[in-house]
Amino acid sequence: MTHPSKRLLLFTAKLGYQTCHQLEDPWGDQAIAVHFETPDVAAYTVMEALRGQNVSGILALGDRPAAAAAYAARGLGIHYNHPATVEACRSKLRMREIFRDAGLNVPWFRNLPVDPTPEPALLGLSYPCVLKPLSLSASQGVVRANNREEFLAAAARVRRLLDSPEIVATREPNLDQMLVEGYIPGREVAVEGLLTDGALRVLAIFDKPDPLEGPYFEETIYVMPSRLPESTQHAVEKCARDAVRALGLSHGPIHAEFRINEHGVWPLEVAPRPIGGLCARALRFSLDGEVEPIGLEELLVRHALELPGWNSPRERIASGVMMIPVPRSGVLEGVSGEDAARSIPEITELTITARLHDTIAAWPDGSSYLGFLFARASTPEKVEQALREAHEKLAFKITPSLPVEHPATRRMANQGN
Ligand code: ADP
Repeated sequence: MTHPSKRLLLFTAKLGYQTCHQLEDPWGDQAIAVHFETPDVAAYTVMEALRGQNVSGILALGDRPAAAAAYAARGLGIHYNHPATVEACRSKLRMREIFRDAGLNVPWFRNLPVDPTPEPALLGLSYPCVLKPLSLSASQGVVRANNREEFLAAAARVRRLLDSPEIVATREPNLDQMLVEGYIPGREVAVEGLLTDGALRVLAIFDKPDPLEGPYFEETIYVMPSRLPESTQHAVEKCARDAVRALGLSHGPIHAEFRINEHGVWPLEVAPRPIGGLCARALRFSLDGEVEPIGLEELLVRHALELPGWNSPRERIASGVMMIPVPRSGVLEGVSGEDAARSIPEITELTITARLHDTIAAWPDGSSYLGFLFARASTPEKVEQALREAHEKLAFKITPSLPVEHPATRRMANQGN
């Protein structure tokens, strides 16, 4: 991406929902192909390719690209997060350890092998608990268990997922382990933030109005501004600052999830990247002197390049997105009701991202939504209502796929949360 005087180095996976639509030619002659599973090697490849060229800023759009970006930033002397910090964010176990050591609210947690299935009675686990792979994202493989039988079934399920060819092909580290931790009851919010030299600006707190109580944790609706009391929002912001400081993140976008209950705010996860999927479209900012708002991506590019407008305020209207859930695994044969959904006045966009005749996987095996619905209105209540109404108009025809042991998971780099 070029500017008259500044060049941005963008790290993104070629299948990300975000960039396929944004970059005119993602594999044009300016792109450098790398493998993100070895981030230091990826960074080296990039630096070799850039030899002698000036780079002013770095931006990464996914968890895996962020690690390569951090190594490259270090080599090029560009402001960004330290590689060790970004690597720590890639492990749910490491993150729990860091939060615990910083005195933040953390549930009990244990790192266990997936094979053979651990016997919970011997481990003294308590219920309800949550089982999850160490480094997948988008709630893929995250399962709640309320008793021993559910634990055993969940553990077998996580093992099958981690053994599946699609996941093995990602070459993620630690695919032979899972994290088991106490279930944190409460409401959940997502925070979108932007770090400048360690100082966090909270761009938005998104409420998640649908209960996320398991057994699987597929996302649905995000709405902002938050309807939580002001004091709770401040507590969330404080927890976000504490979590970011504990991890050592210092520069660029973050996306984080928190739970809130009578014991306070609990950081679930902080990722050194912007919100995934197409969800960024739910956030717009008012650029000084311009009628048209700018999107999150443009704000982040301005921030990375230190161009004017990087601290533009968020537009005042309420806004939200629904990640359209996958009701069951199978082959997507048809979608109807799109026009009816779009005709709801507050609905600003409907994009079906799943392709017809593709096999789609429901959670916990899946990680890609059917698509995204966006709404804007004067209040968050109206936004939420419009998203629900629009979703009700949609019908998806999904036929069972041939009985294979593992539903194919079409993995994308930025899976939507
Ligand atoms: P991912 O990076 O795959 O999104 P997370 O650890 O953030 O994995 O978990 C995904 C979702 O699962 C969370 O947003 C939350 O709704 C739920 N979840 C995960 N861990 C817990 C927990 N300990 N207690 C309650 N819910 C949890």
